Amino acid sequence: MKQLQMVDLKSQYEHIKNAVNEGIQEVLNTTTYINGPKVHEFQKNLEHYLGVKHVIPCANGTDALQIAMMGLGLKPGDEVITADFTFAATVEVIALLQLTPVLVDVEEDTMNISVEAIEKAITPKTKAIVPVHLFGRAANMEAIMNVAAKHNLFVIEDNAQAIGANYTFSNNKKVKVGAIGHVAATSFFPSKNLGCYGDGGAIFTNDDALAHTLRGIVNHGMYERYHHDVVGVNSRLDSIQAVVLNAKLPLLDSYNTARRNAAKAYNDAFAACEHIITPAFDINGDDHVFHQYVMRITNGKRDALLEHLQQNAIPCAIYYPIPLHKQKAYTDGRYNDSDFAVTNKFAEQVIALPMHTELEKDQIDFITSTVLNFLK
Ligand SMILES: *Cc1c(COP(=O)(O)O)cnc(C)c1O
Repeated sequence: MKQLQMVDLKSQYEHIKNAVNEGIQEVLNTTTYINGPKVHEFQKNLEHYLGVKHVIPCANGTDALQIAMMGLGLKPGDEVITADFTFAATVEVIALLQLTPVLVDVEEDTMNISVEAIEKAITPKTKAIVPVHLFGRAANMEAIMNVAAKHNLFVIEDNAQAIGANYTFSNNKKVKVGAIGHVAATSFFPSKNLGCYGDGGAIFTNDDALAHTLRGIVNHGMYERYHHDVVGVNSRLDSIQAVVLNAKLPLLDSYNTARRNAAKAYNDAFAACEHIITPAFDINGDDHVFHQYVMRITNGKRDALLEHLQQNAIPCAIYYPIPLHKQKAYTDGRYNDSDFAVTNKFAEQVIALPMHTELEKDQIDFITSTVLNFLK
C-alpha cells in the first residue's frame, strides 16, 4: 500500500508534470513573472469554466474575501452575517475591515449556514451574508438569495472549498457555485480542489461595474497608471501559479469525481456502523465535491479514534475544533452559546479522513477497516 497522506499532491503532479514543467520553463524564459500572458489565459479559462463574466485573480483566498467586501463598499459598523462553523479567514476579513461579524449556527444535515438563523440575525444594520460552501458542499443558495433580495443584502460566496460544484435551483437550472451570489471568493491554496503550488486566489462576479472596481482595488486602487482613485491593496496571482492552474483546470471535473468516488467508498463502508454519521450526497440541489471528507462520531469516542488512527499512521484532522464564537478574537457579548447548538456539537463529533484525487482502494479499505474495528 502506498503511504497514506491527508492530501497526495506528489502523485497528482506526476500526471501533469510535462505541462507544468514546460509552462514554468516558458515563464522563466520570458521573465513574465507577474501579470504575464499565463495569468490572463487562466482568467479567461476560469471565466469560461464557471460561466461567470469576470474572474479577478489575486494573491490568496483571504485577500479575495477582503477585496470582495471592499469592492461592495461596505463601511465600518455594517453587519455581515456568516457561519460559526468555518475556517477563520471568513470572519477575519470582516473584522479587519471593521465591519461587524455576526456569527450564526449551521444546519445539521449540510453543515452549512442556517437560513433560519440568518433571518433571525438580520437587523437594520445588516449589509451582507457570507455563505461558505463548507467541505465542498454548496450552501442553500436559493433560499439565501431569496432572503438577501427581500432585505436588500449582498451575498458574498466563500467558495474556497467547493470550486467546480454545481448547484441546482428548484426550476432545475444548474449553476456553478461561485457564480450565484453578487460576488464570490476562492482560494488556490495547494490542498484546495483546484490548487496551485504556492498561494493564489480569485474573485468572481457577473457585475461589470463591480468587476471594474475590484480590478482597481487589487492593483493599489489604480484605474489609470499612477492615479490612485480608491485605497487598494497589492494582491496578484503570479505567472508560475497560473501555469499550474491552467494545467489542472481541465482536470478539475475528473478530480472532483475522484473525490466523490472516494467519499462514496467511505460512506458505503461506514453505512452499517451506528456510531458514525456520514456526509450525505446531493441534498438541497448541491453536488458535494468533497474538499474534505468529514464524518461525525456519535458515541463520544472521537478523540480516542483520532489517536488510534494516528497510531496506525492514518492521517486525520479535526475541522474545526473550536467554534468561531468561542475564539478569543471573535467572542462577542451579544452571542448566546445556546444559539450555536449544532456548531458546538460538531466541534466534539467531527473527524476528517484522508481525501484527495489519488486515493487507492487498498488505502480506503485499510482506513475504513481500522475505523470500524476501533468503533465496534
Ligand atoms: C482556505 C480557505 C480560505 C482562505 O484561503 P487562503 O488562500 O488560504 O487565504 C477562506 N475560506 C475558506 C472556507 C477556506 O477553506
